[in-house]
Amino acid sequence: MGFFDKLRKAFGGSAPTQPQGDPNAIWLYLRCSRCGTPFRVRVDRRNDLSREDGPGVFLLRKQAMDNKCFQLIEVEIWFDANYAIVSSDVQGGTLLTEEEYKAAQAQ
Ligand SMILES: [Zn+2]
Repeated sequence: MGFFDKLRKAFGGSAPTQPQGDPNAIWLYLRCSRCGTPFRVRVDRRNDLSREDGPGVFLLRKQAMDNKCFQLIEVEIWFDANYAIVSSDVQGGTLLTEEEYKAAQAQ
């Protein structure tokens, strides 16, 4: 149990969870190339994607940071109309699949 879970329990309040389902979220799984930390970043379909001409339909440009060495990771990803990744360019890190992310966390 994490610290914040204990805190929530102590105060008897309900946890501030995300809305059920979170339909606009796309989770990106990244690994920092400097310290190797796997982490995930939430992308909002409505706010973070822009419709542009290119290899895909939607373009995401985002800066991400792991919580260990705080290296800035520049992410540029093209999505198709179904929000599947068409191509990706990650500076300072690598893109993981959800399975790779979970495997890396389990280590
Ligand atoms: Zn790092």
